[in-house]
Amino acid sequence: MRVHLDHNSTTPMRAEVRARWLEVADEHLGNPSSLHASGRRARALVDDARACVAAALGVHEEELFFTSGATEANNLALFGVVAAAGREGALVTTAVEHSSVLAPARELARRGHRTTLVGVDAQGLPDPEAVVRAAAEPAALVSVTAANNETGALPDLAAVARGLERLRARPRFHTDAVQALGRLSVRLREWGVELASFSAHKLGGPPGVGLLWRARGIDLVPGLYGGGQELELRPGTENVPGIVGAALAIELAVREQPMVSERLARLTRELWAGLAAGVPGVRLLGPPIESRQRLPNTLCVRVPGSDGKVLVTRLDLAGLEVSAGSACASGSLEPSHVLLAMGLTRDDARSGLRLSLGRNTTAEDCKRALAVFHAQFASSRAT
Ligand code: PMP
Repeated sequence: MRVHLDHNSTTPMRAEVRARWLEVADEHLGNPSSLHASGRRARALVDDARACVAAALGVHEEELFFTSGATEANNLALFGVVAAAGREGALVTTAVEHSSVLAPARELARRGHRTTLVGVDAQGLPDPEAVVRAAAEPAALVSVTAANNETGALPDLAAVARGLERLRARPRFHTDAVQALGRLSVRLREWGVELASFSAHKLGGPPGVGLLWRARGIDLVPGLYGGGQELELRPGTENVPGIVGAALAIELAVREQPMVSERLARLTRELWAGLAAGVPGVRLLGPPIESRQRLPNTLCVRVPGSDGKVLVTRLDLAGLEVSAGSACASGSLEPSHVLLAMGLTRDDARSGLRLSLGRNTTAEDCKRALAVFHAQFASSRAT
């Protein structure tokens, strides 16, 4: 049996979500903008889903916008806020963000907006004060991920927010919270952010559905123009089954999070102990295993002398699915920008490997994964 330890890339749709998703897809639903009964029924489903997510996140319904995923939500936040600030609008973000933040940042820079990428320390964490200093220039928007998808590092968002409060021209504060939801307690107000992006397929929901949360009163320019859906911020006929499935997945993930996180943290620690004991020279990247500033399910390791992508293929042939850095960049020959930003050399960064556990990962899965690793490194040193 294969073992999937790549849940940060995507995680299987939950059975109850799939059932609900299919049930809604099978209903004769109208367009939620239509006035007839089947249209009103579809509208009610979208409204209920929004209310359900709002309750799970502790926010207001009219602050939530459904999108096609977190890539779109991140683009909407970055272009939307910076563009709303006019030509002078500047962006501050970090060097370890997901490509769906870094690529819009590069495009904003190309269009003439001042864009600053704040560096990180050897654990992959930005210094909150460095972020605040960069934002003092001033800036229209600061965007810092809540949880890094490669290393699991958790930047101190509340410290950034406190620093931003001191600035004369306070920028807006966005977080890409894709990897945080369902893995830790997401407290948007305590973090002090005003915009946050989420993705359903990372927590047992259907692919192709995401969310942007935007606190009341934050100006945002839409990226698309069309019908008036989603308060005109994200026009287009709603993906009703996807939205209903996403809302159920989010509700369940938030409810179960404390228990799931505790179990995954234990399994992740055991997995690391097993790797450290059986893989010669293996190193943990990112915050230390006992740190509170790390995701409970993510291990980013380096096997000296190996090529992460070659190792991924070898492990795959042996039935174990892991990744070398972010799935969104795995087609690239470049080493991970996250590991480079942490100060690794290009060669060392190429040996990075990510193992990420999911809600259904068992102790038996971890045992089998360790057996695959041990067999690889007992028979040959991977090159
Ligand atoms: N941000 C992070 C941190 C991610 O891990 C991902 C998914 N790889 C995304 C954004 C993009 O999400 P989506 O696949 O929903 O576009």
